[in-house]
Amino acid sequence: MPIYEFKCGEGHLAERHLPMSSEQREIECPDCGQMARRIISAPSVRRTDSKIASAVEATQKSAHEPAVVNSLPASGNRRATPVSRNPQHAKLPKP
Ligand SMILES: [Zn+2]
Repeated sequence: MPIYEFKCGEGHLAERHLPMSSEQREIECPDCGQMARRIISAPSVRRTDSKIASAVEATQKSAHEPAVVNSLPASGNRRATPVSRNPQHAKLPKP
């Protein structure tokens, strides 16, 4: 439920958790008892680390639209697959 802010004629601010479908525009001010009107204020948006945000975005995007790649990802300092030179290993079945 979002938090709505209300301000009375005396300038007191009050907050209420109300459902988004709520049409309540006035509440009783908890400080002075006058009617306080709902005011428009900036939404509270949490800031997320950019790496986490891009990972979440990529995950959500790939769920509906898988990325098409034309090459293997860069292999940095990846080790080569070891190859045995033992002649007995040549007789083993290949995967
Ligand atoms: Zn008040």
